[in-house]
Amino acid sequence: MINIPKGTKDVLPDGSYKWQYIEETARGVARVFNLSEIRTPTFEYTELFKRGVGESTDVVNKEMYTFEDKGGRSITLKPEGTASAARLFIENGLASSPMPVKTFYITPAFRYERPQAGRLREFHQFGIEVFGSDSYQTDAEVIFAASAFLDKLGVKTKLEINSIGCKVCRAEYNRALKEYFKSNLSQMCETCRSRFEKNPLRILDCKEERCKKITVSAPSIIDFLCEDCSEHFEGVKALLDNQGLEYTVNPRIVRGLDYYSKTVFEFVSDAIGAQGTVCGGGRYDGLIAELGGSPLPAIGFAAGVERLMLLMENTGVKFPEKQKVRIYIAGMDEKTRAKAFEIATELRLKGISAEIDHLNRSVKAQFKYADKLGAEYVAVIGENELLSGEINIKNMSDGTQTAVKFGQIETYLK
Ligand code: ATP
Ligand code: MG
Repeated sequence: MINIPKGTKDVLPDGSYKWQYIEETARGVARVFNLSEIRTPTFEYTELFKRGVGESTDVVNKEMYTFEDKGGRSITLKPEGTASAARLFIENGLASSPMPVKTFYITPAFRYERPQAGRLREFHQFGIEVFGSDSYQTDAEVIFAASAFLDKLGVKTKLEINSIGCKVCRAEYNRALKEYFKSNLSQMCETCRSRFEKNPLRILDCKEERCKKITVSAPSIIDFLCEDCSEHFEGVKALLDNQGLEYTVNPRIVRGLDYYSKTVFEFVSDAIGAQGTVCGGGRYDGLIAELGGSPLPAIGFAAGVERLMLLMENTGVKFPEKQKVRIYIAGMDEKTRAKAFEIATELRLKGISAEIDHLNRSVKAQFKYADKLGAEYVAVIGENELLSGEINIKNMSDGTQTAVKFGQIETYLK
């Protein structure tokens, strides 16, 4: 017996409706926000993520599934969706479309992490990316899209926002951070000690308790924002306020990935343990240029489907019921089974779900089976029914029976 790889999950026949529900909810939100779906390959050239996610990130440093293919190229299973979306945008010349270009995706993502609740090695993201607008309105719209998605699913989360400024304000802030962390360096984890040199901002994102403690009284980026970044942030907040969307400003949100600038945000829950962020996003005005396109602002988010599912299950959020079989048609012998087959096929072609026996069961056993399937209606075809051209359709929820002509079954069920 060969087992499933560590950190991956099967979706079973009686659980897939939950996935479909989350995906349909995502698609519904995408539709009203006028976002068009994009699909990118499961793997990309490794270089894309090194440049697009950033060499100082955990994702690139420690978590990527990278291998050489038979042609000697370095390939990586995508650890997130944004870099691929940006590549797609540049490579397909979408910069010549009317702006902004508003996209969404549902994608698997792969990260070599220590598996735990809400942290897998293959997981899935619903993400949106909006290219070509630097207005704070777009930031607010993207945040509202995430909020609408979470609301529709019925999950309760808290929105935390921050601005990490632009290159100019961040350079100054990084200096201040270094000054602050300098004296604590010996108490911090090894990763943070290397972050100190490469990208001190990233220290604020550390998950280690000892480092978290130290970051508590670190200087706040908000105090270092330049005028432009500060106005932008005020604009975003004003729109959220106007619509009554509650949030807190958390100056310690920096996001894990290198390409962010200005607005960053997370939707977090305390009901799923340490892995509390179900959705994270932000503005990444530098990414398109970093990947070789003409400079173009962009903003997006990604929500983790498995974490959402965990949150929904842990907090007792109801999923809609799994779709049941509409009608089960039982036969008794070769002739009546053939008729059951014929009727079921016709109904299926007309879009009604129908089921029959596949295992030569007795009528009694078929009733049991129909019950297990949760069939809403059950009908038995015997010799008499073949002669009269009519069957009794039993409504399983109230037990009533109705005689229906073979040709009228579809109408009756509709
Ligand atoms: P974390 O801080 O939890 O590691 P992250 O900053 O690495 O998250 P992002 O790269 O922003 O996460 O990914 C967006 C979302 O994808 C996260 O908010 C989370 O819901 C989900 N996610 C990220 N990594 C995993 C994982 N290993 N397993 C399951 N879901 C994940
Ligand atoms: Mg992570």
